[in-house]
Amino acid sequence: MSVTGKVYLVGAGPGDPELVTIKAQRLIRECDALVYDYLSAPELLGWTKPSCEHHYVGKRAGFHALPQEEIEKLLVHLARAGKNVVRLKGGDPFIFGRGGEEALTLKEAGILYEVVPAVTAALGCAAYTGVPLTHRDYASSVTFLSGHERPDKDEPMVDWAAHAATDATLVLYMAMGRLPLIAATLVDGGRPADTPVMVVQWGTTAKQRSVSGQLSNIAERVYEAGIGAPAVVIVGAVAALGDSLAWFDPSI
Ligand code: SAH
Repeated sequence: MSVTGKVYLVGAGPGDPELVTIKAQRLIRECDALVYDYLSAPELLGWTKPSCEHHYVGKRAGFHALPQEEIEKLLVHLARAGKNVVRLKGGDPFIFGRGGEEALTLKEAGILYEVVPAVTAALGCAAYTGVPLTHRDYASSVTFLSGHERPDKDEPMVDWAAHAATDATLVLYMAMGRLPLIAATLVDGGRPADTPVMVVQWGTTAKQRSVSGQLSNIAERVYEAGIGAPAVVIVGAVAALGDSLAWFDPSI
């Protein structure tokens, strides 16, 4: 009788390998197959046992090594072949990572799975640039948003005007392509043009770079600094604290 393997949707954290959970480390060490993408820290790949199969299904804005549907088929195939699979996903698997879709496919296929949470990019980038996402004096809520879609499309999933009207700290993922439009939309919606903004690329890694500014000039500063994906954009009064609280030196 063949035994079906189990699939672990494991968060790889934002980059610094020391930020992954002990559970993630154990599962990576024990698995028979590792399925990973380009946001997974390379150090983690070296933790697998010698017989473990590595499958790169890398995804970068615009460059899909394997379409999502094929990734899901691969997970099902590997599990049906009796392998215990770690599907390593950058950050947390259930934050903008399509982990929900993968879990649904596994559920439908009758394959057992577990989800291992992790430090999502917003938290890693904020910590490593000295930006407290909440602060009694400045912000008592924080919102994670996808900047992937056009803010001017007819029926946007993100109600930018509603978010502009709050004083929540906003953390935008996948927003680099549309930063000028998003910043302008937030100002149109009521956020002051001088609202502090911090943009962090490759947060928590040796390649971390950040640039700070205000809604009125952040797009220009990011362009001048040559910062692109993967980056998060932190919008709100707390973003200004990074200029004095920053502690992380990526060059060390
Ligand atoms: N599941 C991931 C997010 C996947 S969406 C998580 O929880 O973090 C991909 C986006 O995440 C990127 O476009 C970028 O906005 C953000 N991101 C992921 N890792 C990052 C990092 N180390 N530094 C900055 N942004 C990062």
